[in-house]
Amino acid sequence: MLYQDLVKVYEALESTTSRLVMTDTLASLFRSTDCSHIKKIVYMTQGGIVPDFFPEKLGMADKLYLRTLLAATGANEAMVRKLWAEEGDPGKVTEKVFETKKQTTLFSEPLTLDRVYEALLRVARLEGSGSQETKMRCLADILHDAKPNEARYIARIVTGRMRLGVASQTVIDSLAVAFATKADKGAVERAFNITSDLGLVGETLCKSGIDGLNAMHVMVGNPIRAMLAERLPSPEEILERMGGRAMFEYKYDGLRVQAHITGDKITLYSRRLEDLTGQFPDVVKALREAFIGQTAILEGECVPVDINTGEMLPFQEVSHRRGRKHGLTEAIEDYPVRLHLFDCLYLEGEDLTMRSLPDRRTALTRCVKVTENVRLSEARVLDSTEKVQEFFIEALNAGCEGLMAKSINDDSVYRAGSRGYLWIKYKKEYRSEMTDTVDLVVVGAFHGRGKRGGVYGALLMATYNPEEDRFETACKLGSGFDDATLAILPERLSRFRQPSRHPLVESKMEADVWFEPSLVLEVLGAELSISPIHTCGHGHIRNGAGLAIRFPRFTGTFRDDKRPRDATTSQELMDMYNKQLKRVEG
Ligand code: ATP
Repeated sequence: MLYQDLVKVYEALESTTSRLVMTDTLASLFRSTDCSHIKKIVYMTQGGIVPDFFPEKLGMADKLYLRTLLAATGANEAMVRKLWAEEGDPGKVTEKVFETKKQTTLFSEPLTLDRVYEALLRVARLEGSGSQETKMRCLADILHDAKPNEARYIARIVTGRMRLGVASQTVIDSLAVAFATKADKGAVERAFNITSDLGLVGETLCKSGIDGLNAMHVMVGNPIRAMLAERLPSPEEILERMGGRAMFEYKYDGLRVQAHITGDKITLYSRRLEDLTGQFPDVVKALREAFIGQTAILEGECVPVDINTGEMLPFQEVSHRRGRKHGLTEAIEDYPVRLHLFDCLYLEGEDLTMRSLPDRRTALTRCVKVTENVRLSEARVLDSTEKVQEFFIEALNAGCEGLMAKSINDDSVYRAGSRGYLWIKYKKEYRSEMTDTVDLVVVGAFHGRGKRGGVYGALLMATYNPEEDRFETACKLGSGFDDATLAILPERLSRFRQPSRHPLVESKMEADVWFEPSLVLEVLGAELSISPIHTCGHGHIRNGAGLAIRFPRFTGTFRDDKRPRDATTSQELMDMYNKQLKRVEG
């Protein structure tokens, strides 16, 4: 397959914001493609070359890319730097440079998809001393034969800025349309949720159709996308929703970890599917001692504990352990953690995700020997609000955030990658009205005035609307930032700057600076109100108006464990608004 054929599709995708058109465009590409190419196309269209949880990452530093571009084209450095400053998009800069250069290049071989893919894979895999020069050579080799429009996308993907606006959901829809029917969307989604590898799902569908897809199971080594909980404000409502009886567990305030065990090899994944193994060798060791068996996928919460008392500490303490390359031994000693396992998704060759929670809990109990550092979540089956309230207080006293209520009915399967009422969280914040935190995405900023001159005065924050794949504004956030945070924000956000409003952002406000939705912040609001200027849930609660969070404050927590599409959804905010109203009226 020629790379140019893919680039033509990219151009078509970029020229529309309609998800329907995107879906059809991608579906016809998939249909006309040999199955051996599907994986590569799926990864590359989403800006990668492998599934997200693989170690290979693109994202060449701008400086190195610029050097490569200059070396590969012999273009005038001053001119390229000027263009770079004006455009801020390596893709456009590269295309312009190539348009000028093209008249002088006589010999070039048409680029194939395979050649571009292999070169990018090498670039991502090269590490260590001397790798920069080899990376440059690899990239220059494909750039040499690239047409201007091809060079645009090579530049974007290699610098980690593909930004075609194609969400996983769009790819899922297109795969269903291409190889099955629209009605099979759910099956495609499930296959993705249990493997986290959309390329593999696409290839399986292409080769073996819907039957092949339905035969896919969870696999040790492929992280399963996390099952998420809905929220309800009272034990009464929780029990009613659960049919009068449910399993209640401590809701630990830590880091969610999924352990993939096969023989002696243990890999730990975060909720964002990052490989945490290197950062938690102590957890790996503890699991090795506690697990009885050969292969399993277990899920739990990793909680920081006080070295002296063994008591649980706030989540923030565990963040000292994250992203560390140096001083790991000291960090393990200073910030010890304990794993509380709450689910078993696979055991000795059997996929348990379609089994009920009681069955999974039995499996978990059988395969784990409780030790000092590996325990099971504290759990109780309860059927009265008094008992729930008692257990809730007990959980708070133990240093937990509250309770997780889990359905124990026959249909209490593990719904990978989705939020629903099979699990319901009940947190201490619900005791007072509208003080639960939400996780919002930064989509814009306003220049500061007065004391905040030179830094951002406020950020424009948005919820996520998964139905439309859009980010909808919910507030301007200016409180809760200390001086140090204010000072680093422009730098933290600079990578995501956009010349104008990002196409996925719905906003009626004009921000001074726009960003690609990326950074997620935890925000505490005082109340929710109807607002004509915000777009969150626009038109759903009142015609011509959306929802706004009043008196929002940054809690100080950067939710780096969440991707923008994991942020609080517009629907969740609407649900919070409706519940708040009910209680105020009642
Ligand atoms: P969400 O994960 O629902 O998007 P969030 O990240 O703000 O929201 P919480 O509101 O704290 O998280 O609730 C869900 C999280 O609680 C889970 O992702 C998991 O990390 C954690 N958790 C703690 N204890 C348990 C438990 N016993 N069972 C399931 N999850 C638990």
